[in-house]
Amino acid sequence: MRLILLGPPGAGKGTQADVLSSKFKIPHISTGDILREAVREGSQIGKSAKSFMDRGELVPDDIVIKIVVERFTKKDSAGGFILDGFPRTKRQAEDLDKALNSKDISIDRVLYFKTSPETIISRLSGRRICPKCNAIYHIKNNPPQKDNFCDKCGAKLYQREDDKEETIKKRLKVYEKTEEELIDYYKNRGILKEVSGDLGVEKLFRSLIDSFKKDGLV
Ligand code: AMP
Repeated sequence: MRLILLGPPGAGKGTQADVLSSKFKIPHISTGDILREAVREGSQIGKSAKSFMDRGELVPDDIVIKIVVERFTKKDSAGGFILDGFPRTKRQAEDLDKALNSKDISIDRVLYFKTSPETIISRLSGRRICPKCNAIYHIKNNPPQKDNFCDKCGAKLYQREDDKEETIKKRLKVYEKTEEELIDYYKNRGILKEVSGDLGVEKLFRSLIDSFKKDGLV
């Protein structure tokens, strides 16, 4: 199964992608995670991306598209994947289609996480991330067992620099600019499905599984 998760920052895409990835044994490909790792490693891509990310702006299309196309060359994505945070512009969507067409494959479903502003702010301000395994926690809704440490690998959790209030506002503005054209792009293809990002993880997961079954995807 090949999925794209679309929606604002804080819609719960990353958390849902993790759950779906475990269920269907397909990789969760998050361009944000890949870029943050590149920044930590101090690679050339990381150096080019850092200032855009710190400002809450989009990293240039050429860089991000290259990352995704390279990621597809790994064997683990041959049986399907979940794209989270990509595409974010029409150009990225078009280039993704070109890359997939050249492999004779296509996206099965684009899940659009429609989410209220209240949910977004509460999720982002309480979000904590594991720098090692990218696990996502929330100080109230999904706290780790030991305060501030990852349940899975024991690393110390951190708050993303861009999850601070001023940058959140900027990221939402950036997101809103391209939301409509991306939604239209996939609506026209007939593969867009709107889901509620306000639902809890389990509830949304169950409703997604039901809809995949109904549509014959699983
Ligand atoms: P995310 O983890 O998806 O919220 O992404 C964090 C930051 O990484 C974004 O605010 C952008 O600066 C950058 N980023 C992630 N994915 C993309 C993308 N597809 N296009 C451009 N920039 C991206």
